[in-house]
Amino acid sequence: MLKLYSKQIKTLTANSISEPLVVRLSSNHLLPIGLRRNDFFLITQSNIDKVPSGFKGYFIPEDLSLTLGEEFLADNVFTIPNDQEYLGDGDVIWFDPNSLNSRTIYRKNSKHNSLLVTERCNNYCLMCSQPPREINDSYIVEHILQAIPLMSHETNELGITGGEPTLLGEDLIKIIKASKIYLPETSLHMLSNGRNFADLEFAKKVASVAHPDFMIGIPLYSDINSIHDYVVQANGAFDETIRGILNLKSLNQLVELRVVIHKQTYARLPQLAEFITRNLLFIDHVALMGLEMTGFTRTNLDDLWIDPIEYQKELTEAVKIFARFKMNTLFIITNCV
Ligand code: SF4
Repeated sequence: MLKLYSKQIKTLTANSISEPLVVRLSSNHLLPIGLRRNDFFLITQSNIDKVPSGFKGYFIPEDLSLTLGEEFLADNVFTIPNDQEYLGDGDVIWFDPNSLNSRTIYRKNSKHNSLLVTERCNNYCLMCSQPPREINDSYIVEHILQAIPLMSHETNELGITGGEPTLLGEDLIKIIKASKIYLPETSLHMLSNGRNFADLEFAKKVASVAHPDFMIGIPLYSDINSIHDYVVQANGAFDETIRGILNLKSLNQLVELRVVIHKQTYARLPQLAEFITRNLLFIDHVALMGLEMTGFTRTNLDDLWIDPIEYQKELTEAVKIFARFKMNTLFIITNCV
């Protein structure tokens, strides 16, 4: 797994940058001079003998720094540790030149860029892969708003995830708007528990951005409210989620339903499929997913684990129901062992 955080950057030459910054990396030594002053140049084996001047700063892998000629006298040269060597041209990172910490926000060559916009959440799901933390992480929004204009226009899809993104309120609207303005050809997919869309005014604000390709993935774990509420560990969550979905669809927003299959949800899969086809037939996509062995899943494994082979019957029945109603359905087996 790639390490997105680093505390092991080192200063190699004089440092004239005083504030943390969100910066794009470039390994293009032919980049026009006018475009260099905001970017960091990424020194690699193939460009080490033609490092250009005029960049805001320079990163060089630690091993390679030993071969950097003494005649190279630029300020703001930093070494990056070996576990960050995946960084490449067009990537965007947050970097603090004082504490020498960095966080990778976007990787140009990845097909799966997701922006974690907050760690806070109003659910506490049994199998949460990103266990919520009650912290003030509002600084993340600022980093993301600075990063989006630096991302490649060729980015196919961008994810928004958390925590629960809708807890950001107006700041979430800013992120969706920035994506629409700076990445007009990029699909946006947001994971949300859907509860805050029960507030019709908030749902209207999100819809009014009119992003041309924006889908919201919302989990629904049962046709019975108490089972859904137990899985997400929040009373009343089922009712809010359903009202949220109805509000979003009344505003013509794209909605995907996501069902994680485990010991608490497998038995009523056919009934859930019936519920969805009777009441939510206008949903755009249904994703049936296996358990991810991360976060709370490991802690609650006894309450969650069932071998996928054991729920074949319920899964087959549910898929047949979705197929009968021509619902767009996908089954994803994730990290099950
Ligand atoms: S809604 Fe998502 S982020 Fe919140 S606790 Fe559940 S799985 Fe975790």
